Amino acid sequence: MTTRRDFLRTAGVVTAAAAILNPFEIFAQTRKDSRAISGSKKMQLTFRPYDAQMRHVFTIANSSRTTTPIVLTEISYDGMVGYGEAALPPYLGETQASVMEFLKKVDLSKFSSPFEIQDIMTYIESLSTNNTAAKASVDIALHDLVGKIMGQPWWKIWGFNAANTPNTSFTVGLDTEEVVKEKTKEASPYKVIKVKLGRDEKTDKMMIETIRSVTNTPICVDANQGWKEKHYALNMIHWLNERNVTMIEQPMSKYLYDEHAWLTENSPLPIIADEACQRLTDIPKLKGAYSGINIKLMKCTGMREAREMVSLAKALHMRLMIGCMTETSCAISAAAQLAPEMEWADLDGNLLIANDCYKGVQIVDGKITLNELPGIGIAKL
Ligand code: MG
Repeated sequence: MTTRRDFLRTAGVVTAAAAILNPFEIFAQTRKDSRAISGSKKMQLTFRPYDAQMRHVFTIANSSRTTTPIVLTEISYDGMVGYGEAALPPYLGETQASVMEFLKKVDLSKFSSPFEIQDIMTYIESLSTNNTAAKASVDIALHDLVGKIMGQPWWKIWGFNAANTPNTSFTVGLDTEEVVKEKTKEASPYKVIKVKLGRDEKTDKMMIETIRSVTNTPICVDANQGWKEKHYALNMIHWLNERNVTMIEQPMSKYLYDEHAWLTENSPLPIIADEACQRLTDIPKLKGAYSGINIKLMKCTGMREAREMVSLAKALHMRLMIGCMTETSCAISAAAQLAPEMEWADLDGNLLIANDCYKGVQIVDGKITLNELPGIGIAKL
């Protein structure tokens, strides 16, 4: 709304100045003014790099880091702006440079309206085989824009019940006993703790025992493909099952299909595919090997495909989780629009960074709490 007021204010100043111009200039100025008030009917994509600063050094099975590179996008149309984001943790293989290179190729001038999401995203998909985060940054901005034009948030447009959102987990990364205790205390407002395991048995058990020395809050475990062998994985899962762990994400390599099928068959806890499930087309082959899937907007090119993944997974009787990278409240709030359909949510990426540039979905008493703001429900900070 600030944008509209600014447009009107600018238009007012320009009209007063027009009094001293000749008639041709006044005509040209009036056309320019009317465009300024209604906004351009052409979609315009802009983007810029942004470095998310981590509150703590973030460690998973194979790497540590203190910042996460991000590219922020905006699509303007008819006086309104939709916001999007590509979050780029190094292991995904996209960089700020590769995302901006991709976005430079995007030409939205061939589409007459942002409502053509299906055609636009088919075109975006045709520009390269990978670049899923770059594609998601366009998809999210488009959805935000369309929701704003409609004046409704996406959870409502999709017909979801906001009361059905799950609690979000809060991630505690691999670290020394002292830091893990400190992080666990920091996680006390959350109803679920997510723990990154997948190193050696001693370290993994130290993590769980250290957390359990502080709290009995339910734990979701993410092994990030770190366990090498199915019998070892099953023994670990039995041990974890006795310590109020409720679910295991990606225990072994994403390439070990038969081993995961055996593990899922024998495991007392649900086994969820993360690295093994990137996009819609991965889901059918995962049926039977995993209990469910972890959907992330940066893996699956955004909200449009994520919504399709929800339907397909449900049709195959697979369980649903929504996750994230280290992201600002932009991509987190976009993902949260799907949260009412999820059994588990791991949407803490914005809570792990010190310099969030948007305000969006809130966590109230541990639960993802959607707002009534249109689009993806965010405002710039
Ligand atoms: Mg994971």
